[in-house]
Amino acid sequence: MNLVFASNNKNKIKEIQSILPETIKILSLEEIGCHEDIPETADTIEGNAILKADYVTQKFGYDCFADDTGLEVTALNGEPGVYSARYAGEQRSADDNMNKLLNALLDKSDRSAKFKTVIALNLKGEQHLFTGIAKGQITLNKTGNEGFGYDPIFQPEGYTETFAELPLETKNKIGHRGKATQQLIDFLNATK
Ligand code: IMP
Repeated sequence: MNLVFASNNKNKIKEIQSILPETIKILSLEEIGCHEDIPETADTIEGNAILKADYVTQKFGYDCFADDTGLEVTALNGEPGVYSARYAGEQRSADDNMNKLLNALLDKSDRSAKFKTVIALNLKGEQHLFTGIAKGQITLNKTGNEGFGYDPIFQPEGYTETFAELPLETKNKIGHRGKATQQLIDFLNATK
């Protein structure tokens, strides 16, 4: 079975392929000749994952899955959410985004937040959604050098370190993307 991952991130593709049985072959966007920027214009995380998966299935005719992630902060009514990548502007700077978020929380006592990843899978004419959540707190300052995005200011539940201080293995195990991916893999392994 050929299955497109609507991503050009070679690491993500390799990682998923290594966990799946050989009967499921993961193809990148490059491999199917899709070189265009897939629109991410929905106003929810679910909506964007669906938009990306549907784009590939409708335009290229492949079974496909796509993911989208956002950080939802309770005291900010779920912001930055679907706008996490460009929270502080189109320059998409992780530092600017973290500074904006830390400033927005200066007068808030509730610093709880969660990362949410949604994977939309189009398989044999049906759509399936998988959601992974990582709950935690936004710290007062940035700490750690691992990871990316908001990792230096996100302290997952049950840990005293931020995601940027934890080894990747731990982040994969307790993190939003790892949990959603595991659900996708379990589903594909059961339907192979
Ligand atoms: P994407 O949908 O995976 O591209 O994620 C959208 C944005 O959410 C990224 O640009 C980051 O700002 C943020 N983000 C997603 N995943 C993570 C993560 O694991 N750690 C920190 N920030 C993340």
